[in-house]
Amino acid sequence: CGIVGVIGNSRAKDILLNGLDKLEYRGYDSAGIFLENGQETFLVKSQGRIQQLKDKLSDDVKGSIGIGHTRWATHGVPSEANAHPHTSQSGRFVLVHNGVIENFDELKHTYVQADQFKGETDTEIVVHLVEHFAQTENLSALKAFKKTLSVVKGSYAFGLIDTENPDAIYVAKNKSPLLIGLGDGFNVICSDAMAMLKETNRFVEINDGEIVVVHADGISIEDKAGNAVERQPFVTELDA
Ligand code: GLU
Repeated sequence: CGIVGVIGNSRAKDILLNGLDKLEYRGYDSAGIFLENGQETFLVKSQGRIQQLKDKLSDDVKGSIGIGHTRWATHGVPSEANAHPHTSQSGRFVLVHNGVIENFDELKHTYVQADQFKGETDTEIVVHLVEHFAQTENLSALKAFKKTLSVVKGSYAFGLIDTENPDAIYVAKNKSPLLIGLGDGFNVICSDAMAMLKETNRFVEINDGEIVVVHADGISIEDKAGNAVERQPFVTELDA
């Protein structure tokens, strides 16, 4: 029910955990984070509160790019397997989702072998689809993500990482909240500005149907038709 992400900051782990703490009000039957540090990837998930996730994290879990999630289950029981982030079959793609995928059952049957699924959420199909399109149609991460968005119906805010090219967080939304926060040499994503006020007070709004590629040193927004969109950040007066 809450999403955070950060790229280009060696404090990524603390930024994610602090952000998740601030988003706990949105629901918290489970939580998880993914981090990548150039050589290694870390995926840690836990049922229960953010504190239970923190208790599972050792000091060697670190990175400068990552995504995190607090879940409020809509499909699939609260469990570690159903907690986000979710990973694709090969582990290449990692995804967090806030919302409900309405046609997940139909998509599962159409595109992906049943034995690939690790849990019962409506979300997991989405990350398998990205990998499916990347592999079968030889598409870039961005193109595979776009193709996936063209077949998914429902409400969503997504944060996606391609572990093979961890220089971007791919973002899209439809009827679920999501903001980009602009840092100094790094950038963040969040469901609510509250989650990132310690890091920045400059945020960029995203409209439904847009796709944003978030790099450490800048962002690019595309509208539904594929046209580049320029949008100035707003400055919030809220205090951390
Ligand atoms: N529908 C997804 C799930 O049940 C996401 C729920 C949420 O927004 O926390 O896992």
